Amino acid sequence: MSGTASTVAIVGAGHAGGNAAALLRQYGFDGVIVLIGAEPVPPYQRPPLSKTYLTGELDEARLWLKPSTFHAEHRIDQKLGAAVLSLDRAAKQVALADGHVVNYDKLILATGSTPRTLAIPGHDLDGVVTLRSLADADTLRSRLGSGTKLIVIGAGYIGLEAAASARRLGHDVTVLEAAPRVLSRVTGETVSAFYAGEHRTQGVDLRLDAKVAAFVGKDGALAGVKLDTGEIVPGTLALVCIGIVPEVALAQQAGLVCTNGVQVDDDARTSDADVFAIGDCACRPLPRYGRMGRLESVHNALEQAKLAAAAIAGKPRPACDVPWFWSDQYDLKLQTAGLMEGFDAAVVRGDPGARRFSVWYLKGGALLAVDAVNSMPEFLCGKKLAGSDRKLDVTTLRDPATDLVRFAADTLA
Ligand code: FAD
Repeated sequence: MSGTASTVAIVGAGHAGGNAAALLRQYGFDGVIVLIGAEPVPPYQRPPLSKTYLTGELDEARLWLKPSTFHAEHRIDQKLGAAVLSLDRAAKQVALADGHVVNYDKLILATGSTPRTLAIPGHDLDGVVTLRSLADADTLRSRLGSGTKLIVIGAGYIGLEAAASARRLGHDVTVLEAAPRVLSRVTGETVSAFYAGEHRTQGVDLRLDAKVAAFVGKDGALAGVKLDTGEIVPGTLALVCIGIVPEVALAQQAGLVCTNGVQVDDDARTSDADVFAIGDCACRPLPRYGRMGRLESVHNALEQAKLAAAAIAGKPRPACDVPWFWSDQYDLKLQTAGLMEGFDAAVVRGDPGARRFSVWYLKGGALLAVDAVNSMPEFLCGKKLAGSDRKLDVTTLRDPATDLVRFAADTLA
């Protein structure tokens, strides 16, 4: 399609959609690109919203994915503050809330996800919030004032990052987690225990096995969170961070195959050959793990943007990496390469007490994933090894004296 006057419409101007537009041009696509986003702002990075943007260390100007002149210079027609209400695959059109219709030859769905909410009494009280968008982060920032008592519900990445940021600002923070450990969906027990200890040391009142039953209000505003034990945890602001659901309404309405996200193939193509789905909303093949799955990360958004843009521009399929993630809490950088699910052995290198260590998750002797805390070199070596089925020499891996760069090179030779 490169060089032809066709139109690619992209629905969702977030991390995946914004990158897909830029990559189409980078890969030589010369047709019309229409980037349509429901939010009133150009594509931006979400990770700082729970980290340095929330603490005020990073200002808005540094959130944007591209400089302000980029889209005009690259002939990318941005339609912002424009929600797409429907998709007509037969007519190859999307209809916007303002009544406009955009025709396409190829369509990329990059609609992201929305925060899960708690359908419990009091969920609509003033002071019960979620964190997904820049607007949400601004609301949260404006409500974190003196005397705020923040209750974070959910000890996943975003909940713990927001808790750490609020503590750095000096606020009183309670974290309520229904599971017996923090980060239980994404890491093993050693890392969970380390982060639980760290948050407690930093002054967070972390409650595990704490199941939320209701939000309790006074004069229409939040006054606390009631647990299933009947205890009421006092608080003026509750941030609900209990995961996300993929935004698949358009795809479903248009009859695309959706199961836990829009199903796509290795090129990010949906069950309609002219429609692609990328980022948080897409359920993609994960060959290393023998299953389909959704990945909620910047790396995945960018990688799938590359896949879709390359397929549309007629370029070879770009190589894929193992999934990788990061989380910044206090002065700790957690970097994860691979998915640890189904591991049968875990090797700890370094010393959690020194706040610098890594955990290597193995299955049948091959590396599934590594978690590295303040250990960039271990993350980088683990990333290489997690992409391979080669068996690791566990005795050498366990040895603190092992030069990991050499170890990775020897293992992969
Ligand atoms: P999004 O970036 O959410 O973009 C989707 C866009 O589509 C949104 O702007 C939405 O408004 C728009 N949209 C949806 N429906 C329509 C419609 N019908 N019409 C028009 N527009 C529509 N990942 C990491 O790897 N590391 C991190 O440290 C990290 N931290 C995070 C912290 C926070 C607070 C959050 C919220 C996310 C974080 N993530 C992190 C996750 C990462 O930001 C997401 O995985 C990534 O943004 C996904 O990109 P996306 O384009 O699929 O979705």
